[in-house]
Amino acid sequence: MGEAKRRKAAGGPVSPCRTCTLCCSVLEIVALDKPMYQPCRHLSGSACGIWGQPERPAVCAEFRCLHVVLREAGGSERNAIPHPLEAGAYLAKEPGRNLVTLFVDPAKPERWKTSALVDYLRPLMRRGFALEVIDRGRRMEIASPDLFEEVLKLDYVAYADRQGRPLDYPSYRDVHPAD
Ligand code: SF4
Ligand code: SF4
Repeated sequence: MGEAKRRKAAGGPVSPCRTCTLCCSVLEIVALDKPMYQPCRHLSGSACGIWGQPERPAVCAEFRCLHVVLREAGGSERNAIPHPLEAGAYLAKEPGRNLVTLFVDPAKPERWKTSALVDYLRPLMRRGFALEVIDRGRRMEIASPDLFEEVLKLDYVAYADRQGRPLDYPSYRDVHPAD
């Protein structure tokens, strides 16, 4: 997390993160007492204000979204996942699990559905992976290719909102009260 912010602060070359700060807002960071969706108080523009300092949590130094992982690996899949700034979402994967998690940018929640992320996810689903989607305070697990295609066609978050279903991550409303 925060590679762009690290290198910018250090005056080094631009990293694969570019100016993205999505994971510094969407993720919960227990060590910083930061709930989901609350932008980190240490963000300074697109830079991490505590880069290199002891209070920067280990999770920040360790985390990379799948776009950055593949870019840094430099193999044949280096361009397989669009940048979160273009896709409006980022992917994360824990080693050894057939599950990928999609964290959707609340500012452009439908963009990922028309991005090259779909071309990456569709074959993954056919190979038996499940997809967890974290979107506007809601969590949804998609375990079949057919359901994946349905989700691409409908805004399920707006539907759940209209039904009055409670949020999975209520802190979303603290940051986006008018949505
Ligand atoms: S979501 Fe990915 S590209 Fe964006 S800041 Fe986090 S690690 Fe970097
Ligand atoms: S401390 Fe905050 S700004 Fe810095 S990398 Fe972690 S989440 Fe991002």
